Amino acid sequence: MSDYKIPGSLLNIIFKSVEEQLGEKGLRMLLTQAKLNDFIENPPPDDDTPTLDMDRFKGAMGAVIELFGEKAARPLLMRWGKLTFDYALESKPALFGLAGFATKFMNDEGKSRFILKRVLKESENLYGMPHILTETDEYFNIEIKDCFYCGNHKSNQCICWSPIGFWRGMMKWATGKDYDVREVECMAMGAESCKYTIPKKAIE
Ligand SMILES: [Zn+2]
Repeated sequence: MSDYKIPGSLLNIIFKSVEEQLGEKGLRMLLTQAKLNDFIENPPPDDDTPTLDMDRFKGAMGAVIELFGEKAARPLLMRWGKLTFDYALESKPALFGLAGFATKFMNDEGKSRFILKRVLKESENLYGMPHILTETDEYFNIEIKDCFYCGNHKSNQCICWSPIGFWRGMMKWATGKDYDVREVECMAMGAESCKYTIPKKAIE
């Protein structure tokens, strides 16, 4: 078991995303349900202090899916992923390597590769898990080993929706276009790791 802890600043951004969607009461309810109620009285420090155990984070992700059911959790988690990107960009651009993004002379594929490399590197540091980027002619492929988004939940579909929302927001920001980001293999379905694809060609 990893004893890695997620930093307080990231946790604050995630909580803020949930609050935006569900309100203050909703956030409290969710934290209680996810057994994170200690953070209601003591909000996480807004810096890089190691704050939340990965195992507890995983448990919380699973609790969200169980609480809302997969059908309702899907749009919620996609939206939270998008908001996490928006808030990180707005309040802490350095957190995910979004600061100093100068790609004026790159085409969309170059911009995508540049931002993906950076953000995945920072995500490895923030979540303490490998995020592996490979590519083919048509796709960027991302693999998360020991994925924390599916939270030990079992399903007959791919359920790691929040990184999809995050990467969609990121691609739109980097290129001004929409990309059909998908999860293609999920540990919830028994896969060895979670795998995602981002087409190099934007949605027309
Ligand atoms: Zn997953």
